Amino acid sequence: METILKQHGLLGCFTEIVTNPAFVDAEGRLNIVPFHDSASTPHGCNLCPPNMCKGLVLKRIQAADSEFRKRRYIYLGDGKGDYCPCLRLGAQDFVVPRKSFPLRNLIYNKQALIKAVIHEWSNGEELAAVLLDIIDRILIDENSRTEVMASPDNGCKTTPVSYP
Ligand SMILES: [Zn+2]
Repeated sequence: METILKQHGLLGCFTEIVTNPAFVDAEGRLNIVPFHDSASTPHGCNLCPPNMCKGLVLKRIQAADSEFRKRRYIYLGDGKGDYCPCLRLGAQDFVVPRKSFPLRNLIYNKQALIKAVIHEWSNGEELAAVLLDIIDRILIDENSRTEVMASPDNGCKTTPVSYP
């Protein structure tokens, strides 16, 4: 992952890459090992495959984030293993499942369990448009909140920005 991101000049856009560790052995073979060592410390999540619980990864990221309560998460995914972390997202967050992939079906099978706002995508152009829409919405929300927070107590009216 790091090599690919570096090659495209995108590595600086990421604070952390979480993936199954991989290495090339003496015979030149690529070896991939589980992120969670299931032999010594099973992650205990029955939604996720034994190699990695992305919900636990998200929980760790949120626990280390001092701005967690204020921050809004955007979760992109497509596979079954992406469902568990989506259950940890709040109503202020966004989940962006890929159409016609397992995550999207899992979400809509039990949509009541998902608190985050759902935006679907099927190709790169749609994903870019969805992400820009989400960023616009977050900026509108922040500007609205800032206007209200900046409202003086002297009776001046403020007009919060609204969106559909
Ligand atoms: Zn899990």
